Amino acid sequence: MAVQQNKVSKSRRNNRRAHDALVAANPNECGNCGELKRPHHVCPSCGHYADRQVVAVTDEIELDEDAA
Ligand SMILES: [Zn+2]
Repeated sequence: MAVQQNKVSKSRRNNRRAHDALVAANPNECGNCGELKRPHHVCPSCGHYADRQVVAVTDEIELDEDAA
């Protein structure tokens, strides 16, 4: 196990952690359906990206119980 050679002062520790804050997400409106979505990502609610459908979206998936 690595062992530190010198005590890290509260000031040095806090200065290191000054850049550790989380940044809030910055959602955009989908150009197709208007839902909020992550920028540069496919819209999860309608499957559009750059004004065209790239992922098929279904409301529900039917599970066939006899398939197994
Ligand atoms: Zn959308």
